[in-house]
Amino acid sequence: MKNEFQKVYFAPSVMLIDIFQAKQHVEFLNNNSDIFHMDIKDGNYVKNFGTTPLFIEQIKPMTTVPIDAHLMVNNPWEHLEDTAKAGADYITPHADTIAKEAFRTINKIKSLGCKAGIAVNPSTSLNEIKNYLHLLDKVTVMTVDPGYSGQPFIMQMLDKIKSLDKIRKEEGLDFLIEADGSIDEKVYKQLYEAGVDIIVLGGPALFDKSTQIEEAWDIMKNHFEAAIAPVR
Ligand code: MG
Repeated sequence: MKNEFQKVYFAPSVMLIDIFQAKQHVEFLNNNSDIFHMDIKDGNYVKNFGTTPLFIEQIKPMTTVPIDAHLMVNNPWEHLEDTAKAGADYITPHADTIAKEAFRTINKIKSLGCKAGIAVNPSTSLNEIKNYLHLLDKVTVMTVDPGYSGQPFIMQMLDKIKSLDKIRKEEGLDFLIEADGSIDEKVYKQLYEAGVDIIVLGGPALFDKSTQIEEAWDIMKNHFEAAIAPVR
């Protein structure tokens, strides 16, 4: 269980902002959130599309919080340099896409001046990343299969987060643990207790709560505080 000094960081999925209020939404989120989460999808690794490094480049001058590029693409190598150049602070490819060159990829991300994250799908075992865990700045535990909205949160992933937190403590590592996928107020308490550091806020947690970002944020924060109050 967390103590009162441990903080949970909020990472809104910024591609979900209302484009007609983009400037205001980005400014608000920059002032209120902790990290910007950007889903970059190539239509191959997942069969839909997300945002692009160009979008990162466009909003970078308006941001002071770190930007995390979640690369849901088949060939992360082809996008590392563009993503770093666009202004990403973290680059987070999927473990299964770098399995044959994990060390090379992580070192490349760091050589570009970025922090290295790795995303693990629900079916991916932590064994697949254990040999390079010590090199990572962040592990993103996917709490749904990637690429399709509206799926139920996979409760089993809470155990994966707990296991990661245990490994982190036992081995004295300092990577952050992030949860991404169909998160809403029903799972804040469990995520908090499991040891999560970063919660990705998509539609169910934030953007679907109101078309007014200030109101949506208040609703999210109230839900979160109410959920963790009994265990804090
Ligand atoms: Mg994501």
